[in-house]
Amino acid sequence: MHHFYYRDSELYVEDVPVLSLVKEYGTPLYIYSAQTIIDHYTRFETLLEPLDHLICYAVKANSNLWILKLLANQGSGFDLVSGGELYRVLRAGGDPKKCTFAGVGKTRSEIEEALRVGIYSFIVESEEELLTIDAIAKKLSIQAPVAFRINPDVQAATHAKITTGSEVNKFGIAFSQVSELFDKCSKLDGVFLKGIQIHIGSQIQQVEPFLQAIQKVLPLVEKARQKYGAEFLDIGGGIGIVYEQAIESGREDWWKERKESLTLAQYVESILPLVKPLGMRLLVEPGRVLVGNAGILVSQVLYVKKGGAKKFIIVDAAMNDLVRPAFYDAYHQIIPLREQLDPRMEVVDVVGPVCESSDCFAIDRLLPKVQAGEYLAIFSTGAYGFSMASNYNSRLKPAEVMVSGKTVKLIRKRESYQDLVALEEELT
Ligand SMILES: *Cc1c(COP(=O)(O)O)cnc(C)c1O
Repeated sequence: MHHFYYRDSELYVEDVPVLSLVKEYGTPLYIYSAQTIIDHYTRFETLLEPLDHLICYAVKANSNLWILKLLANQGSGFDLVSGGELYRVLRAGGDPKKCTFAGVGKTRSEIEEALRVGIYSFIVESEEELLTIDAIAKKLSIQAPVAFRINPDVQAATHAKITTGSEVNKFGIAFSQVSELFDKCSKLDGVFLKGIQIHIGSQIQQVEPFLQAIQKVLPLVEKARQKYGAEFLDIGGGIGIVYEQAIESGREDWWKERKESLTLAQYVESILPLVKPLGMRLLVEPGRVLVGNAGILVSQVLYVKKGGAKKFIIVDAAMNDLVRPAFYDAYHQIIPLREQLDPRMEVVDVVGPVCESSDCFAIDRLLPKVQAGEYLAIFSTGAYGFSMASNYNSRLKPAEVMVSGKTVKLIRKRESYQDLVALEEELT
């Protein structure tokens, strides 16, 4: 569910026509619906009520300060993967005591920063990292909370670049090495075992891989709790969202998600019987499922070009603004801002201006006929959209706005040419 819909053939976000935002702020433009994020968060919260739990939003999905603040105000914790993300969360008013810090390559200074602000737990991915945290904590005369990330070696049936829980991935501690590391951990004075974590991948559409992974680590979780006093199980993020037919036009029910996907309710109902008997605190680290469908990227058509074999719609957004199609072969629904109820359709490629053949938002896509000057909305771009944006081709990163009811807030200005070179100034 989300709050993007057509009213009188015009695309709206909550109570605001998208065209009015485009006129005010230009394109390419990321637009977020605050209510959609709140709805998703609240639903997850409510479903998890039967358990002692903590939702740690995965900051890397969308790290804009205003989105972090929105979630912090809802009571959310945060899953961090860098010192920069910790800095953002603190700036946004997030509570460090509700933060986990994951990642295979934490630096010493990142570890020290996280210890000083008192995060909830490190998620440790190797023995060397454990020893490093132990040494730094001792130097600061504190005991660092750590959770082991276990690699459960399951296949998550998602894109190869976003599967993380198989033995060949760099993530987590190999299943066979965990018991030995429990033992080592218990002998170190600077750390204590607070939990166990797994995270098997992203955009996962079935519940089975999650269940398999949990089932597989349960004996180790029991051991961690009984023998070493661990208090939480963190089952990571990875819940998939609808990308195809995120919105449908020309029908009464076009705002409803059409394609079957794993719902939050199905997810929670399936995992509860496994995790509730543990009597431990449950952590989840959702990213995409909270913010993915809460954002669109609006772009203007610059040219329509008939190539030798294809027709190209050239738009003013590019892979530097949204890299998912180029990086993950990702599908994003694309629709015009003005609904065409009886559209003349044609098969086109929607491409950006960047000098790379992979700079492509859609290939052989059936779209209503559009002309230069019209606008297209690229759907489901709230997660891994702006947060993966770059300045490639010296393009300026797009502006971001957040809409709440009738209220519009510019939450990130469009970059300027000065911004582009600000850190390279003082040529002499
Ligand atoms: C990326 C990541 C997440 C969030 O994944 P989503 O698919 O966006 O839910 C959660 N935990 C860890 C450790 C991650 O790396």
